[in-house]
Amino acid sequence: MKGLRTTNYELRTDMLEIFSSIQGEGPYVGQRQIFIRFNNCNLNCNFCDVPKNIKSAKFDVDGVVSKIKKINKKTKHKAVSLTGGEPLLQTRFLKELLPKLGKFKFKIYLETNATLPENLKSILKYIDVISADIKLPSVTKERPCWREHLDFIKIASNKNIFVKTIVSKKLKIGDFKKAVSLLRKIDAKVPLVIQPAMNRKKVLISTNRLHRLQRYALKFLKNVLVIPPTQKIIGVR
Ligand code: SF4
Repeated sequence: MKGLRTTNYELRTDMLEIFSSIQGEGPYVGQRQIFIRFNNCNLNCNFCDVPKNIKSAKFDVDGVVSKIKKINKKTKHKAVSLTGGEPLLQTRFLKELLPKLGKFKFKIYLETNATLPENLKSILKYIDVISADIKLPSVTKERPCWREHLDFIKIASNKNIFVKTIVSKKLKIGDFKKAVSLLRKIDAKVPLVIQPAMNRKKVLISTNRLHRLQRYALKFLKNVLVIPPTQKIIGVR
């Protein structure tokens, strides 16, 4: 009947793409994963590289499950990565989808801007690995999100989590110090990944500065890694 929304219709979500690729960032770099890239984000970072030329499509839960099954038939994958945009804007859909992925024995890997703590709570039990950003306002040119990051990482810290922060020559050192102090306050054992911003294959911060940032963070945190976005170096998405 025209105008009557069925449950199925309501559980369709706006999604850019589902594809198999190599994880390019953070400590799981190199791992074969299936990526579910969701549309839309609650931030607008200066360096955002989410492709703008892909048309979003409406997927329902069963459509996503069968596409993942098909992709995994050809090559065995280690994890399903929820990426974006901001996947935590889609928790209603994820609450339906994630239990159905349980039977595949994938790790569920969440890539998030770490600003939606309440949304995280609602799907936390399904998530295995959390890649949580701390957005530095001098780099993103976005509003500061310190309070949201603090609440988010506190909730996520009893999971397998690492925190990632993107740095460029625009970085104000006060922002970086604040991020280190925030993480130390929650748990100094949570790994911090310092990710240099890149434009095509060019790193947008000096090597000397990366050394200094890592040395500084290691005064307060146990595990600090400098890892570039390798997908930009080898040219995968
Ligand atoms: S949080 Fe991520 S997806 Fe959202 S605008 Fe920033 S870089 Fe882009």
